[in-house]
Amino acid sequence: MDDDHEGPSQADIERFSNITRTCRECKKEVFDDAAVCYHCGHAFGAKEDVGMPTWALVTTGVILVIFLVFIMGGGNIF
Ligand SMILES: [Zn+2]
Repeated sequence: MDDDHEGPSQADIERFSNITRTCRECKKEVFDDAAVCYHCGHAFGAKEDVGMPTWALVTTGVILVIFLVFIMGGGNIF
């Protein structure tokens, strides 16, 4: 058995790789939602913190479309 519970295995790291990013200062992996690298203290830019996140815009758009279809259908879409 090669069941190691001492720390994250390589498989675990790969599984979470989509929510991490590489710090460009120290080249180490940090979580994507970290504002500051906890390895070297490098502060990530907040350039994408303007306005709503993309998922919020998409969700709002979908709700608006459904609402409009419902209104134009006179409420008889069922
Ligand atoms: Zn770093």
